[in-house]
Amino acid sequence: PVDKDELGRSTWNLLHTMAAYYSEKPSTEEKKTMETTLTSLSKTYPCSYCADDFRKDLKVHPPKLENRDELSKWMCEMHNRVNKKLGKDIFDCTKVKERWLDGWKD
Ligand code: FAD
Repeated sequence: PVDKDELGRSTWNLLHTMAAYYSEKPSTEEKKTMETTLTSLSKTYPCSYCADDFRKDLKVHPPKLENRDELSKWMCEMHNRVNKKLGKDIFDCTKVKERWLDGWKD
């Protein structure tokens, strides 16, 4: 059976890491590929009610695909909307690079 929390942690790992390594100057094709990746994931994510909310969220808050910083911030805010819904702590998005690109300073 799907462990929803384990699935969530590994998916956030993938999503934030993809954003952290997204191009600083993406081509039209790179933007399209990222958009398709997110849209497709929102249709195939194997927790159906999570996927339903994910699709609605993408409609209200379309991904910011202009560059790495914009996408990383957008991903952080998207994750925070899920955190809020689940009653979890809100993550400080100024720390997203430290967490997902450079590694915590400790
Ligand atoms: P997670 O939320 O999985 O976070 C993992 C790590 O990411 C944290 O330890 C922290 O270091 C870091 N982090 C936390 N917040 C942020 C942020 N805003 N930006 C950057 N880094 C951050 N679960 C449900 O029960 N219901 C749902 O509807 C649901 N929808 C989901 C939709 C999506 C698209 C995804 C990917 C997951 C969803 N989940 C849902 C799973 C849920 O978000 C968590 O992954 C799960 O509850 C495990 O939580 P966690 O506390 O271990 O940390």
